Amino acid sequence: MVSREVQAHDTVVRFGNASVGGDKFAVIAGPCSVESEEQLLSVAEVVKKHGAVALRGGAYKPRTSPYDFQGMGVEGLKLLKKANEQLGIPTVSEVMEVSQMDSMCEYIDCLQIGARNMQNYALLKAVGESKKPVLLKRGLSATIEELLLAAEYIYDAGNPNIILCERGIRTYETATRNTLDLNAVAYLKQRTHLPVVVDPSHGTGVRELVIPLSRAAAAVGADGIIVESHLNPCEALSDGHQALTGPMFEQLMQELKPFVEAA
Ligand code: PEP
Ligand code: MN
Repeated sequence: MVSREVQAHDTVVRFGNASVGGDKFAVIAGPCSVESEEQLLSVAEVVKKHGAVALRGGAYKPRTSPYDFQGMGVEGLKLLKKANEQLGIPTVSEVMEVSQMDSMCEYIDCLQIGARNMQNYALLKAVGESKKPVLLKRGLSATIEELLLAAEYIYDAGNPNIILCERGIRTYETATRNTLDLNAVAYLKQRTHLPVVVDPSHGTGVRELVIPLSRAAAAVGADGIIVESHLNPCEALSDGHQALTGPMFEQLMQELKPFVEAA
């Protein structure tokens, strides 16, 4: 169902006043984790001011170590809702378990399936049965075919509003956190009608590489990017080293202007 052979035209996924897919390049931005009201609202204001169409922020965090910050949970979801109401910007946040679905649907506009859950079939079915758009991230070691089949689960459960996300894969290379597979973007754009976004933050793990790889994502034909940003990355409770500062986010949007504004 997600194949271009079934549907030739591009799917455009809409939530709030955001649309992903079609002619415009969409920038989704915000912190890795929601940490406090002050932190979230201040960065939300900055990314919105410079042209982000949606705010990202994790309330349930899939951390590699159980001793690291695990997220604010439902309090974080409420802060995302508050940012949405105050600034009019729609939100994207990760759902990690089926039991979180009710509160996610109450507070969040677009449900993110994280890389670690790309093959959690119970979760894929649950988001497929919901009415919310889904941002589906590619698994750490998943093939493109496996990503497409994961999307097929969501589609088959009744939800056609799926955004695919290339977020870097695990290779032998250790200089960067992951290896951003831009081949996947060009390939997916041919194979599927679903919109494809790139996550250069997790794709590189290095703040200084995020702007160049964002330009590359736009050049290769992605429908947008999802990037991490924090106004005080040194104090961030997760992924601070890959977060764009406020001025860097402004610079990113300057450089992407021709794509963001293309009609
Ligand atoms: C995230 O978006 O913060 C995240 C945990 O991403 P991924 O699932 O791609 O690792
Ligand atoms: Mn992160």
